[in-house]
Amino acid sequence: MADDSTSYDFDLFVIGAGSGGVRAGRVAAAHGARVAIAEEYRIGGTCVIRGCVPKKLLVYGSHFAEELQDAANYGWTVEKMSFDWPKLRDAVLKDVDRLNEAYTATLDNHKVERFLERATITGPHSVKLASGKELTAKVILVATGAWPIVPKFEGSEHCITSNEVFHLETLPKRVLIAGAGYIAMEFAGIFNALGCHVTVANRSNVILRGYDESLRDRLLQITMARGIEYKFNCPFQKVTKREDGAFDVHFEGQDPVCADVVMIATGRRANTNGLGLENAGIVIGERGEVPVDDTGKTSCDSIYAVGDVTDRVQLTPVAIREGQAFADRLFGTSDVRIDYSFIPSAVFSQPPLAGVGLTEGQARNAYGSVKVFSSDFRPMKNVFGHRPERGLYKMIVDAATDKILGLHMIGPEAPEILQAAAIAVKAGLTKADFDATVALHPSMAEELVLMR
Ligand code: NDP
Repeated sequence: MADDSTSYDFDLFVIGAGSGGVRAGRVAAAHGARVAIAEEYRIGGTCVIRGCVPKKLLVYGSHFAEELQDAANYGWTVEKMSFDWPKLRDAVLKDVDRLNEAYTATLDNHKVERFLERATITGPHSVKLASGKELTAKVILVATGAWPIVPKFEGSEHCITSNEVFHLETLPKRVLIAGAGYIAMEFAGIFNALGCHVTVANRSNVILRGYDESLRDRLLQITMARGIEYKFNCPFQKVTKREDGAFDVHFEGQDPVCADVVMIATGRRANTNGLGLENAGIVIGERGEVPVDDTGKTSCDSIYAVGDVTDRVQLTPVAIREGQAFADRLFGTSDVRIDYSFIPSAVFSQPPLAGVGLTEGQARNAYGSVKVFSSDFRPMKNVFGHRPERGLYKMIVDAATDKILGLHMIGPEAPEILQAAAIAVKAGLTKADFDATVALHPSMAEELVLMR
């Protein structure tokens, strides 16, 4: 960086202490920068405080229902099986506290000055804290993440989002979830496994748009068999509250559904409201996002943005990479550009699904001639557990080069298996390379090298 830094209070001021902001702040500090970070809620951000981490713990917690049922087939007698929601909820929230402290300690250890209050941008190099304090920085990094979108309809104030779901006082008997994306499908699985009646209502007629169709169909079949009800093509009209506290959810052209909790999971919008970007001449995009170039720079030379607020790929590991690359580039010596190709992703539904690369449809559109290989199998664990559910692995290959264009899996532990397989796909390996690898038996992952 240029050497006029001393005229500013800080070399870097980060707004938002989530995955991207914390990584950028601590790496910049490790490079010797004087760094400050402002956070209006809790250090850790969505992933740690009210997203990936507590969600995954709820997935683990709810999955015991299946494990305990299956245990009988293996000779176990589990007497007086019962579930205590407040116990799981509080244990999860305690772990969130632990992580919040760990993230705070990371910042402190790197001597990043923390301001636990809202910051707004007042100019290319200046911010104002909620307390009124004004500070200057050579560079400002916007890492404010995203926020659940709640569509406008009468009675929306009765609904919760993924922000509130971790704090429910009691486990509802009936849950209605609006949307059929990541969050909807993950919480549908959690509530269903915990014994709640779940209805998923989506405005369109698909679940998990963007994932491979065969996997989506498989998830739909399995979850319907597990008791989740679906309502498609039914946008919300209104939600009304009954005297007993339950809610009636009214849709356009469909019968209403009664539920104890109505959860909205219809996407997340970049957190840019009232951030003051206009004071630095930055015009936000149509979806509220901060437009940036491939180095994360906005239209203002001294202001950068990383993570969900840029609405490129709304995934934690991507935000972390962007934060790291930003800090290394501006305060270190490396000039890494993020490679957004072949980013693996997973939905922690029950069963989970995961994918990397192109879906069959996308590959056919892009390449014309593709070969599709698959393995449709019943995991040994399911056979022994008398569960009819089948796993499905699917590989999309460029017919001309044999190179793998996409790999998609649904079944137990699919995300764990796909992470390893994604390395091979990212490295450009071919179907022949997979076939040349001897199967590891007995495992589910061996299906990866046995696809026909
Ligand atoms: P998604 O974008 O995954 O899904 C949104 C769903 O809501 C879709 O089913 C969509 O319908 C529907 N929808 C969108 N807009 C409206 C609207 N205005 N009115 C009614 N319905 C609407 O969003 P999520 O909220 O589930 O998750 C947000 C993001 O968070 C994800 O995109 C993902 O990047 C990230 N995330 C990642 C997770 C993971 O990696 N495991 C877990 C959770 C979140 P349609 O069918 O028409 O598209």
